[in-house]
Amino acid sequence: MKSVSILGATGSIGQNTIDLIARSPDAYRVVALTGGRNVEKLADDARRLKAAIAVTAEPALYAELAERLEGSGVEVAAGPQALVEAASRPADWTMSAIIGSAGLEPGLAAIGNGATLALANKESLVCAGPLLLSEAKQAGARILPVDSEHSAIFQALVGEDMAAVERITITASGGAFRDWPEERLAEATAAEAATHPNWSMGQRITIDSASLFNKAMELIETHEFFGVPSSAIDAVIHPESIVHAMVAFRDGAVLAHLGFPDMRHAIGYALNWPDRLALPVPRLDLVKLASLTFRDADERRHPALRLAREVMDAGGLSGAAFNGAKERALDLFIEGRITFPTMAAIVERVLDRLSASGDLAGAMTIEAVRDIDERSRRLADEAAAER
Ligand code: NAD
Ligand code: MG
Repeated sequence: MKSVSILGATGSIGQNTIDLIARSPDAYRVVALTGGRNVEKLADDARRLKAAIAVTAEPALYAELAERLEGSGVEVAAGPQALVEAASRPADWTMSAIIGSAGLEPGLAAIGNGATLALANKESLVCAGPLLLSEAKQAGARILPVDSEHSAIFQALVGEDMAAVERITITASGGAFRDWPEERLAEATAAEAATHPNWSMGQRITIDSASLFNKAMELIETHEFFGVPSSAIDAVIHPESIVHAMVAFRDGAVLAHLGFPDMRHAIGYALNWPDRLALPVPRLDLVKLASLTFRDADERRHPALRLAREVMDAGGLSGAAFNGAKERALDLFIEGRITFPTMAAIVERVLDRLSASGDLAGAMTIEAVRDIDERSRRLADEAAAER
């Protein structure tokens, strides 16, 4: 029996993970399930999966969660500290699927056990890649990528020598606005941005797909996780979302990973690794698809991609600033306070200000990451007010 914890259990990735686990109840023992405001779903799943502990990040929701789980035998806790404590409880496999930089510290706590961390929370690699990887090394923990592109790269690299890798290309669907004329983007609403042509995901990552900030984060994620320089990483627009990533080798061969867009593939691969077991995902029919198309991901139309390249090259704490400013700019866009293109303008402004002051060159500690995260959010508010 494998013991598992799911951080961010009530979200899109968390629910897909639960879907897989619930199909084999005898194979898993659930340790911790964590969530945010949706305590109803959290309580239902904790009861159904007989979790040892359920934690909501919201201290004010403790009483409601406790009431819903009364008599179930599931331990209940609330608040960010309780979440970190639950994440640090021994489990063979932990899914890190909290959204945003809030996932960093629980992820680090899980790594402390020296077991396996299935990493969907790309923000932790963007904010603190070197820290996360060195902590994992020290603890003897293994990190398995769950982002579909990174799972695809990981699979293409099995048995390969990194020295033979010439280039890594990740694909982008292009998001909700891929066929919009650029002039129209200033009128785009959050509701329009939150519809995805191919993938069913949480609201925030769906809007990040439309702005290509999600792809920008994934370029940085590729750089951090696989240790490849920015000059050897790129993104292409692939509207069908069938090819997830391609690895080109020095002998001219390219290994691509194809699959129907369903996150249960990447989650299941990480859950079963190193085995490859059957998964309940739709099968590909290339004849039915007939064609796969690709086009250039124009870095002028998509400033997020250009900024990601700057972040990869600058290193240090620039990823934490990029992510913090992006998360805040996204809040402001969702609240209807800034336009869609203003998000990238704000992130650029915050990066410029913090790098000009030399503050992004400091040593990477969890305190420094937290400090830059907070400051970049404040600076994003200031930049929005100046506009
Ligand atoms: P989501 O918004 O659907 O779910 C987020 C989860 O985190 C929920 O359980 C929520 O309650 C919890 N949460 C939110 N704020 C929190 C906080 N401050 N503290 C603790 N918990 C909090 O998000 P999602 O789409 O499932 O994405 C989760 C992560 O996986 C993100 O990092 C995202 O980039 C990544 N990812 C998602 C997909 C996808 O298909 N949805 C694909 C690739 C990567
Ligand atoms: Mg992805």
